[in-house]
Amino acid sequence: CNSKLKSAPTLESITEITRSERTIDERVEQILSKLSLEEKIGQMTQITLDVVTKGENVYVSDEPLELDIELLKEAIAKHKVGSILNTANNRARSVEKWNKVIAEIQELSMQEIGIPCLYGIDAIHGTTYTAGATFFPQQIGMAATWNPDLVKQGAQVTAYETRASAIPWNFSPVLDMGRNPAWPRMWETYGEDVYLNAQMGIAAVKGYEGENNELSDSTKVAACIKHFLGYGSEKSGKDRTPAYLPEIELREHYLPSYKAAIDAGAHTIMINSGIINGQPVHANVDYLTTLLRDELKFDGLVVTDWADIQNLQTRDKVVATHKEAIKLAINAGIDMSMVPYTLEFTDLLVELVNEGEISIKRIDESVRRVLKLKLELGLFTKPYPSKDDYPEFGSEKFEKMAYNSAAESITLLKNDKRILPLKKGMKLLVSGPNANSMRTLNGGWSYSWQGEKVEAFAQGYNTILEAVQQKFGETNVKFVEGVTYNHAGQYFEEHVIDINAAVKAAQNVDVILLCLGENTYTESPGNLHDLYISQNQRKLAEALAATGKPVVLVLNEGRPRLISQFDRDMSAIIQTYLPGNFGADALADILIGEVNPSGKLPYSYPMYPNALGTYDHKPSESSNEMDGMYNYDSSLPLQFHFGYGLSYTTFAYKDLKLSKSEIGPEDSFTVSVKVKNVGERLGKEVVQLYTKDLVASITPDSRRLRRFKKVELAPGETKTVSFTLKASDLAFVGKDLKWTLEEGAFKIMIDKETQILKLNNSRQFEHANTL
Ligand code: BGC
Repeated sequence: CNSKLKSAPTLESITEITRSERTIDERVEQILSKLSLEEKIGQMTQITLDVVTKGENVYVSDEPLELDIELLKEAIAKHKVGSILNTANNRARSVEKWNKVIAEIQELSMQEIGIPCLYGIDAIHGTTYTAGATFFPQQIGMAATWNPDLVKQGAQVTAYETRASAIPWNFSPVLDMGRNPAWPRMWETYGEDVYLNAQMGIAAVKGYEGENNELSDSTKVAACIKHFLGYGSEKSGKDRTPAYLPEIELREHYLPSYKAAIDAGAHTIMINSGIINGQPVHANVDYLTTLLRDELKFDGLVVTDWADIQNLQTRDKVVATHKEAIKLAINAGIDMSMVPYTLEFTDLLVELVNEGEISIKRIDESVRRVLKLKLELGLFTKPYPSKDDYPEFGSEKFEKMAYNSAAESITLLKNDKRILPLKKGMKLLVSGPNANSMRTLNGGWSYSWQGEKVEAFAQGYNTILEAVQQKFGETNVKFVEGVTYNHAGQYFEEHVIDINAAVKAAQNVDVILLCLGENTYTESPGNLHDLYISQNQRKLAEALAATGKPVVLVLNEGRPRLISQFDRDMSAIIQTYLPGNFGADALADILIGEVNPSGKLPYSYPMYPNALGTYDHKPSESSNEMDGMYNYDSSLPLQFHFGYGLSYTTFAYKDLKLSKSEIGPEDSFTVSVKVKNVGERLGKEVVQLYTKDLVASITPDSRRLRRFKKVELAPGETKTVSFTLKASDLAFVGKDLKWTLEEGAFKIMIDKETQILKLNNSRQFEHANTL
């Protein structure tokens, strides 16, 4: 075809350039100078292989595993497409198949454009589109470990296995805030607190990209922090519906984790698909350029979310034509369009440049970033690796790490009369729709978008039932599901099968293990109208509790579904979140006491649907005579508070000390506390340091997490844990939107220990220093 002949001379010189000794920036400039406008625009275009469109026609490849080579040729040879994401027909492939597919793509790309393709994927809790890869808990569970080292390890393993699948770019981590349990993507976040988010975000970026972001290392991937900015704050809680987010809140709670991850060197960022304060983020130059580029100094690649340039016209209605949508988004600062749906995108963008509506300078900026990333990833010299370079793919060593993460995430929320750990030899009834499902353990984005194909791929791993049978002996464990999900269906489809049979089976057992929660979902298919756990599941819980046998409630859910109608009847409650393929093994080990639980909630677990709130909610306590009326605890009763989680042992705190009782705004200070294991088992405790500004010109948050550390203590052992903080860690976003530190008193809190710290002067800062 013509375009092939036309680009041939370019190809030779690009190959020469990429082999030269020049710096990456010099090479970028040289390649850029060889590219035609069409070739440049192709680099800004990302398609998916299961939906590629030409004009009005949507082509969907029905063969799940094979590439539609004609489609691919058209996209690459004609439209010079420089990036591809996801997988044909939204389903996992073997690692061999991935290598074959990517090799074909890269060969075509090198032959037609002389530039390798940048392939991206959502490998969000492991390499989730590759069969046999190691699956960790989803982000909400990783947050519950309160252990950034585990997050880093998980990201390292994921980077390795993603690269083994020949994919160098991962759309992870999510740094949106999980502050609203109605939002169906809460489980993709690190929970409700921005400090915890930032720490986990930094760990994930370093795990994916390496300590010094060395992308040339072929066991690393480029991270993509997402979805900038304010995603998850939708007023209705429904995905991608309008959000209203004042800048003061945005800067205080939503921006710092992005800043932290950018400072940690994250190479790419994805934009929030939503509309904030009436303006789609994809069209917002203030966010995409003034804030992101000028203020945060991000110089990496900005990619849209799915079809979001076209959405400006078709969904958001801020422009009347596709062409205007492209003009708006590219001028706002977008570098790459994810799934433009129709490849007329490339033609329209060429037109816009030729008509002077978008400057060539703007295009060159974006293309430079794409080329730079491809060079940094080493794709020009090695567009695809050999699978044999990755002997540790799916290894036992990796699986053990995933197991450890699950074990440290699982959170014990109630343990009446210390019924847990259960004794060996006990007879158990296992019941509930989450008891025998690999799908529910993994959550969405697992082998497929909605997770509905998990059962076909997750063979050889244990469901809760299987793991419990292995631990307690098959003859000691009965199983009656009671309520079941439609395993091939949507997350909310369930029906009652045999509650009576479950009740009957309970007669001859010592304890009931009731596994409730949710089926898998992701994004808007997971929108929810009622936060209470489903009525069928509640009926099952009530019927089983009425047998008089102790019930251990195991929750396996992406967000806190309300249990206040029956929680009192449960003897023990354990939150497993979405713990991945080894979650059931970790749970069984906790049930039998081989592992002491150490997870802590990364969110406030609400009690009622009209009492939703985060732990930093304000005002907190009232000091007037109407005390109680404005009290956090009475206005927002919680089932369990943020940071909560029990252990099989007990920890006692004492001697909270400050290195100084008075400081200036430039000073640092140290907080130390003694924590002792006063129980009889080895255990891990998360020491959490909170502060509270007693009086401030902006009503202070009731408390804010400033530091945390997970420590392991043998029975009787005491450790002194100390944290060093800067005064600026105590700053808040003031009326003028600047980080502000006001003189006065601060309460410093660890567990029930408190001290007062005095700040003797006020100051403002450019940014929060906390992170
Ligand atoms: C999601 C992103 C994801 C992208 C690509 C979108 O619908 O919002 O988080 O990375 O799809 O799969």
